[in-house]
Amino acid sequence: MIIVLKNSATDSQIEELTRWLQKFDVKTNIVVGLHSKIIGLVGDTTKIDLESVQAKEMVDEVKRVQEPYKQANRRFHPDDTVIEVCGRRIGSKTLNVIAGPCSVESEKQIIETAIAVKKAGATMLRGGAYKPRTSPYSFQGLGKEGLKYLVKAREETGLPIVTEIMSLAHLDQFEDIDVLQVGARNMQNFELLKEIGKTDKPVLLKRGLSNTLEELLMSAEYIMSNGNKNVMLCERGIRTFEPMTRNTLDISAVPLLKQKSHLPVVVDPSHATGMTTLIEPMSLAAVVSGADALEIEVHLDPKNAWSDGAQCLTAPSFEAVMKKIASCAEFMGRKIDIQ
Ligand code: PEP
Ligand code: MN
Repeated sequence: MIIVLKNSATDSQIEELTRWLQKFDVKTNIVVGLHSKIIGLVGDTTKIDLESVQAKEMVDEVKRVQEPYKQANRRFHPDDTVIEVCGRRIGSKTLNVIAGPCSVESEKQIIETAIAVKKAGATMLRGGAYKPRTSPYSFQGLGKEGLKYLVKAREETGLPIVTEIMSLAHLDQFEDIDVLQVGARNMQNFELLKEIGKTDKPVLLKRGLSNTLEELLMSAEYIMSNGNKNVMLCERGIRTFEPMTRNTLDISAVPLLKQKSHLPVVVDPSHATGMTTLIEPMSLAAVVSGADALEIEVHLDPKNAWSDGAQCLTAPSFEAVMKKIASCAEFMGRKIDIQ
């Protein structure tokens, strides 16, 4: 961190500021130039709040030279993190494909879908039991009942289950769930992140609709700094001015996140585009960009899906896409993580 002081800063103000900064266990170096004075900080500055420094009377400007996230930072953890989910390894030379409906609609629906996606080569099952819908009048999910059906689908197929947790109050209902999904709308629900951080469950953390990559990494930091290191980062499209797609898939986020962080990166082409015709090209782009996993919505009868029918692949179309995904994975030196 570099602090540029105002020309008017007095010696006693500078002394006061350095004493305050040293409380954070950092070394301060004062550089006196012809026209300005600068304090350079050496050490772990993650606990120093930029705005608090900026608010000091004698401070003109503050700049971070290091990222504010530490645990998620590749700089301090050069090796890729590999997350184990029921024998699957996310973040190594594998490719995991999480597939299933947007919402769990019935026991029969989720079991039949699980069987179909497994046959096509999916390595995990997704399905929402608690649904974050824009309208309170839309289907909100089957709740506890839905979670029970997901567990049955895992019993039938052996596929680990990924499902969204929306509220702290539901945490104990997710004991038997393999991966907790934190949805885009909850990416900055810091109380939820802290509590999930106290568990050891793998977490699929989705990027918020209008959040920067640094904000996504800071949300991962919330979970990790509470003890849970099993975090996957998910790019699921961001809001831009383009209305032809539901969101805009930020594909460069994939290699960039991999450069900045050691955490596995997942891409959700379904919510990113909202269009079935774009799922295949965006899935392939994600794999070739270095994604460790994909999350794809599949419905056996998309026209009658209770949510997100317009972006769900059918079982045969998913099977066809999986073949191309496997070729791209091979090109990238990855193997689809079928157990
Ligand atoms: C979902 O995966 O069903 C979902 C609601 O995703 P997102 O939080 O990315 O919108
Ligand atoms: Mn959905």
